[in-house]
Amino acid sequence: MIENLPLNDEDMKNLKLFDIILQSNMSTSTYNLLKKHFMPELSMSSIFILQARILKLSHVTEVSYDCCLNMCCCFTRTYAALDSCPFCKHAWYNLEGHSYKKYKYLPIEPCIKSLYLTDRYAEVLHYHTLPRDSEIEDVFNGIHYRMLCQTQVTINGAELDHHFFSNI
Ligand SMILES: [Zn+2]
Repeated sequence: MIENLPLNDEDMKNLKLFDIILQSNMSTSTYNLLKKHFMPELSMSSIFILQARILKLSHVTEVSYDCCLNMCCCFTRTYAALDSCPFCKHAWYNLEGHSYKKYKYLPIEPCIKSLYLTDRYAEVLHYHTLPRDSEIEDVFNGIHYRMLCQTQVTINGAELDHHFFSNI
């Protein structure tokens, strides 16, 4: 369950700090120096606490899979029972029993859900549902888009219960 609570002063400060880190490509050591020299004034959290808080605020969680050192495959589904890569034959685990490499990504679903939490973006994302006249103003007036809106979604030959771009 994603909460849509207003940001408090501490959250706003953390978001500004995180923005500065991203915009300036600040290293962890530079951040730690700032924290050390401006500790009483800025009351900065450790970089790990800051990142954890930003992660929680963003509602986006990273997904990680073990993969081949050479990035040939992820050891999931049909490859989950293997001990080595079926393509380059490199071992899955090192001597300590850890995967040589991890494939990490951010799933799109929480990203989209978090966009809808902001009233402004939710309004923007509903733009395609606004009533339109017959003039071509954008892609949503196009024949292809309108045709898809009347077409049932089909995956692997199975027709689903909704149309393209419908609110499920
Ligand atoms: Zn491989």
